[in-house]
Amino acid sequence: MSTITLIDPATGQPFHELARATEADVDAAVARAVVAQRDWAALPPGARADALRAFARVIEEHVEELARSEVRNSGHPIGSARWEAGHVAQVLNYYAGAPERLMGRQIPVDGGIDVTFHEPYGVVGVIVPWNFPMTIAAWGFAPALAAGNAVVLKPAELTPLTAVRIGELALEAGLPEGLLQVLPGPGSVVGERFVSHPDVRKVVFTGSTEVGVAVAAGCARMLKPVTLELGGKSANIVFADADLERAAASAPGAVFDNAGQDCCARSRILVERSAYDRFLELLEPAVAAWRVGDPSAEGTDMGPLISAAHRDGVAAFLDGADVAFRGSAPDGDGFWFAPAVVRAASGDRVAREEIFGPVVAVLPFDDEADAIRLANDTVYGLAGSIWTENLGRGVRVSRAVKSGVLSVNSHASVRYWAPFGGMKASGLGRELGPDAAEHFTETKNVFYATEA
Ligand code: NAD
Repeated sequence: MSTITLIDPATGQPFHELARATEADVDAAVARAVVAQRDWAALPPGARADALRAFARVIEEHVEELARSEVRNSGHPIGSARWEAGHVAQVLNYYAGAPERLMGRQIPVDGGIDVTFHEPYGVVGVIVPWNFPMTIAAWGFAPALAAGNAVVLKPAELTPLTAVRIGELALEAGLPEGLLQVLPGPGSVVGERFVSHPDVRKVVFTGSTEVGVAVAAGCARMLKPVTLELGGKSANIVFADADLERAAASAPGAVFDNAGQDCCARSRILVERSAYDRFLELLEPAVAAWRVGDPSAEGTDMGPLISAAHRDGVAAFLDGADVAFRGSAPDGDGFWFAPAVVRAASGDRVAREEIFGPVVAVLPFDDEADAIRLANDTVYGLAGSIWTENLGRGVRVSRAVKSGVLSVNSHASVRYWAPFGGMKASGLGRELGPDAAEHFTETKNVFYATEA
């Protein structure tokens, strides 16, 4: 049996091994899922809702355990990891309300009754990246299960630990065998089989744009619907009329959270030219106060990067860059990286590519039109923030920036009861929010003739 060795990113040391799934394992899991799904979809909606609430309760009882595992496996600070585990329970509770609310329509027709039904796809494949192993998994499996599907879930090879445990907790909570199965393994084997397997009827992929395009192409060949949550290069736009103190104090969290390994990271800060120097002056102490260190210690803001290879890739972005200042990072064998703030121009690599690490490019702009032009000068369109005390400007700019998730005078990106997803190369479709369960159904239209 082939195994995956897990490395603790805070020490660089291996700490756990688990079985690596094969293509045959996927086929066997899908066969079990097909059987489990039939019974699950046949349950009354209230019974499915109760089962999801029971699952949420078991997750709540294991928040501390899941959080400790995430610290070890992903290097997330303990406070963030607790939030993530709790978020899984919240998402489950939210979508536990969906089975009883998923309803079709009655269309007025002559000679009979025309009704639409929302029917589950059957088996859904959920492919998860390494940066938020628990939350992103839940965004897929919770609404999919609520809509009456079974789920096969592939965590990233680097960070499968918590997803595997969540799969075990589903069984402890009483979810039927085969309904939610977690298959750690390589994308080229497990992920590709989700795409090519005829009984996996929908795929949800979160990860890089490059792999997302390949997954979408594979799904197109199978005429299989796919939701894509991909990369980002989001802008944090700061106008001179903004509350600069607040904007600067919150900027480190908006890009260095999860060590910048966040699709919504505001990795470009666009500052109106007249406020540029003042903003950097205010940002420097905020970055110095950003606590980088032992992720298991309470109060740590940022842990290590996920791997040595990824850290080296992030470091390469600083070659030849005009680094304004850096935060701190511990010495030692972990994959540490001191956050960096770079003065940049729009053509610079650091201002164009997704870095997925704690490096932020700060660029000046001249006026509102220039800010919008720069914000949209990227292939991506996931998130972004706008800081201004001018309400009209906040409205105008938020409507003009081509991103799926924006916030004005805040850095909020994710509220599970609101839709989330990207425009342009950042994705296709939306997750979360009131409509997500419906996205895991197909509409059937039936006409019942009432005339002989
Ligand atoms: P990745 O694309 O390398 O891998 C993502 C997942 O896809 C992993 O589970 C991987 O094993 C699997 N995979 C790899 N090749 C595959 C294939 N050929 N077929 C099917 N599956 C395959 O991404 P990553 O490095 O794990 O994550 C980082 C990326 O994810 C970043 O670009 C980031 O912006 C993006 N991301 C986006 C969101 C969002 O919601 N928009 C959220 C988190 C991360």
